[in-house]
Amino acid sequence: MNLKEYIMQTTLSNINVKDILKKANLKITPQRILILEVIKEKGHATIDDIYNQVKKQYPSISIATVYKNIHNLYEKGVLREINPQKDKAFYEITIYNHSHFICTSCHNIYDIEPCDNQIIQQCFKEIPGKISELELNVYGICENCAKK
Ligand SMILES: [Zn+2]
Ligand SMILES: [Zn+2]
Repeated sequence: MNLKEYIMQTTLSNINVKDILKKANLKITPQRILILEVIKEKGHATIDDIYNQVKKQYPSISIATVYKNIHNLYEKGVLREINPQKDKAFYEITIYNHSHFICTSCHNIYDIEPCDNQIIQQCFKEIPGKISELELNVYGICENCAKK
């Protein structure tokens, strides 16, 4: 099973970060394990979030090292980038295709289950091809913020 098959079949709570690194042909280092554990726990994390957590265990680690590792993981397809605002990207472990609901008030990111590609195809007036993957950000006010 390759990385893509593995991550499409598993859920976030079942993910074994060492397996992911192995399948991505990346060296298993304590730093990479920790970075993935932090992202797994937070769901969606910024470089600053990740750096602040990793620093607690590796006080000498630089943000450049964290960034380099994240970039490697991203290039291998282990991480997915969500870019709701131009200056602040979030990273998540690439699990099954899902979309995001982003609250414009608290900036929380919620995972939302996609509907069938065929239905999506019908949502748009004209798509010059067949949909294979969907990367969609939906913006709004989340239920928590709406209550305030
Ligand atoms: Zn909110
Ligand atoms: Zn997500």
